[in-house]
Amino acid sequence: MSTPSETITLLKESLPAFWINPTRNTSVVALEVGSALAPAGADTPPAARSISLADIEAAQSRFERFAPLLARLFPELAACGGAIESALSPLPAITAALGVADGGGRVFAKQDHALPVAGSIKARGGLHEVLEYAERVAVAHGLLPATAGEVDYVALASEGARAVFARHSVAVGSTGNLGLSIGVIASALGFRASVHMSADAKEWKKQRLRQRGVEVVEHAGDYAQAVAQGRAQAATDPLAHFVDDERSLSLFLGYAAAVFGLRRQLAEQGIAVDAEHPLFVYLPCGVGGAPAGIAFGIRQILGPHAHCFFAEPVQSPCVLVHMMDGADGPQGPHPTVYDYGLQNRTEADGLAVPQASRLASAAMRAVLGGIFTVEDAQLMRFVYQLEQAEGLRVEPSAAAGLAGPAMLLGTAEGRSYLRDWQLEDHLAQSTHLVWTTGGLFVPPAQYQQFWAIGRDLAAQQA
Ligand SMILES: *Cc1c(COP(=O)(O)O)cnc(C)c1O
Repeated sequence: MSTPSETITLLKESLPAFWINPTRNTSVVALEVGSALAPAGADTPPAARSISLADIEAAQSRFERFAPLLARLFPELAACGGAIESALSPLPAITAALGVADGGGRVFAKQDHALPVAGSIKARGGLHEVLEYAERVAVAHGLLPATAGEVDYVALASEGARAVFARHSVAVGSTGNLGLSIGVIASALGFRASVHMSADAKEWKKQRLRQRGVEVVEHAGDYAQAVAQGRAQAATDPLAHFVDDERSLSLFLGYAAAVFGLRRQLAEQGIAVDAEHPLFVYLPCGVGGAPAGIAFGIRQILGPHAHCFFAEPVQSPCVLVHMMDGADGPQGPHPTVYDYGLQNRTEADGLAVPQASRLASAAMRAVLGGIFTVEDAQLMRFVYQLEQAEGLRVEPSAAAGLAGPAMLLGTAEGRSYLRDWQLEDHLAQSTHLVWTTGGLFVPPAQYQQFWAIGRDLAAQQA
C-alpha cells in the first residue's frame, strides 16, 4: 500500500491517486455532527446534534407527504405519483472495459443522471431541503397543522399558500446542479429564488434557471466564494432561507433517503448484500454532501458489507485532502485543493469544489472505504463509452464513479483494501454499483462536444 506521502505526491502532480480511509469500521451508530455544523472559527461550544436512522426515515416520510403535490407541480412526476426515483440497471456491455474480468463481480448503474425535475443527484438533497423549509413556513402560517398527519399537501398549491411562499425567498450558492434543483423546486412552489453562481458555471444552467424566473447572481470567484457571498446576503433577510451546501443537514438527509429506494431495487433484482456478497458503491464527490449522505444511509440500512468509495477529479480532490489532513471541528485545519498546488480546474463542474464540507468528512470517518481521483480525459472517455456500450447519456461529473472498479481491483491500494477486509474470495459474487449523478438536462450540442472529445481520446488510447 502506498504511504500517504506517495498519495500526496500523486495528488500534487494531478495524477490518479487512491487513498484508503484508515478509520473505517463496521459500526452502525448515531453520528454526532454538532461541531461539523458549527461555522468556521466558532469558539463557543457547538450545540450537540446527532443523526441516526430515524432522521433518514423522517426525510423519506417528508418526500412521501409531498409526493401528491410534486405530482401536481411537475407533469413528469404524474406517472410515478410524485416519487423522485431513478433506475438501478446492469451494465453488462461496459463491464470488461471498466477492468472487471470474469469472476470480478457484476456492474450496475444507479441512474441518478436521469432523476426528474433537476436532472441530477441534486434532486434528492435540494428538493428535500426546500420541502422542509416550505413545510416550516406553511406550519408557521397555519397552512399546515403543527403535527404532520393525514393532511393533503396539494393544498400548498392553492393561491393563498403561494401568496405566503411568495413573501419568502430561497437562495443557494452553486456550481450549477444544486442551483438547478433548488431554483426549480423553489420557484415551482412559489418562493422567490436566487442562485449565486461562480464564473465557471455553465451558461445553459444559468439560462434554464432564468427561464423559470429564478434570479441568477454571478460571482467572479470560485464556488466557495459564491457560497460565502450568497450566505452573507441571505443572512440579512429574515424571510430568506439559504441552502448551505457546506453544512446542511437537510441536504444530507435528503440524499441519505436514497437508500430506501436502493434497498427495494436490490431486493427486486435478487442482489444480496452480506459477507459473501459484498457491494461496492462508487460515488462522484464534490463538496461531499451528496455522496456522504448516501454512504451514511447505506451504512445504516445495508450495513458494513456495503463498501462506499468517492470519486473526485484530479484537480479538485477536496474531500480527500480534508479526510487526510483536515479536522472535523470548527477550529481545526480546513485545507483547500489550492494548498496542494492544484487549480480546481475541471470539466466536471458538478465536482469542481476547492474545500470540503466538514459535515461530509465527519460523517465518513467510520464509513468510507476510500477516495480515488480521476483525470478529465478519463471522464470524457467514460462519457463516450457509456453511451456507446449502454446508451446512457451522462455529463462528465457523473462518469467519475466508472473509474472505481479498476481502482479497487487493479491498484496496489485497492488490492490491499480487498485483503484487509477479507473480500478477495467473494469477488465473483460481488456487485459494483456506479452512481451516475447528472446529465438529463445537458443540451444536446454540449453533450455532443463531451462525447466527441471522449471518442477522440478513446481512439488515441486504443
Ligand atoms: C453535486 C454533484 C455531485 C456531488 O455532490 P456533492 O454534494 O457536491 O459532493 C456529483 N455529481 C454531480 C453531477 C453533481 O452535480
